[in-house]
Amino acid sequence: MGDVVSGGCLCGGIRYECSGEVGAAGYCHCEDCRRCTGSAFNVGVHVDLDKFRIVSGEPKTFTKAADSGTRLTRHFCSDCGSPLYTSSPRHPDIIYVKAGSFDDPTVVKPDGQAWTDSAVSWAEIDAGLPSTPKNSG
Ligand SMILES: [Zn+2]
Ligand SMILES: [Zn+2]
Repeated sequence: MGDVVSGGCLCGGIRYECSGEVGAAGYCHCEDCRRCTGSAFNVGVHVDLDKFRIVSGEPKTFTKAADSGTRLTRHFCSDCGSPLYTSSPRHPDIIYVKAGSFDDPTVVKPDGQAWTDSAVSWAEIDAGLPSTPKNSG
């Protein structure tokens, strides 16, 4: 099938497409993911590299050794700062696309979580917190 899943950064400068279905998604609670997302955890979606292409813009990259020693490269928009995907030399055929960057976030199907030892207490939203359907202002 010719299904195409698209996505991109906040400013729209970088756009990508994945052909076919995307793979499973995983939550990661590690410190590096916390920092690079600016949030409690990352949600990374497995995508085959040969099904992924950048259709506009050019991500900037930052490479840092993970706890495992593996040097992970993070690809992001240098204009708006949105993180887009991560690549690893241990798995050269796949990338981990940031789940929130998809135009249709319903394609994301998490099937597990990693680094739960580092998870922050606020990774789970307390259902008792004051809630508003739109903005909180
Ligand atoms: Zn951007
Ligand atoms: Zn992580």
